[in-house]
Amino acid sequence: MLRIACPWCGERDEVEFRYKGDASPVRPPADAAPEAFVEFAFARDNPLGWHREWWLHAGGCRRLLLVTRHTMTHEIRAVAAAAP
Ligand SMILES: [Zn+2]
Repeated sequence: MLRIACPWCGERDEVEFRYKGDASPVRPPADAAPEAFVEFAFARDNPLGWHREWWLHAGGCRRLLLVTRHTMTHEIRAVAAAAP
């Protein structure tokens, strides 16, 4: 089980959090081609290694966190607020 250190609540079990997806895709500009939006919305890599992810602390402060996690070992290197 993962233990995630929420900046506001402290270290908590994974069951309190909800995975919200890959944090690396960047939304294309409004005038981009439709294919760019399809790529943004649906195409995802499945990397082996460090991965930046959105996690919601649903069972706690309900804030969105940016977590850097290793996809093989599940080691967590960093946890930060999604926005100030
Ligand atoms: Zn929290």
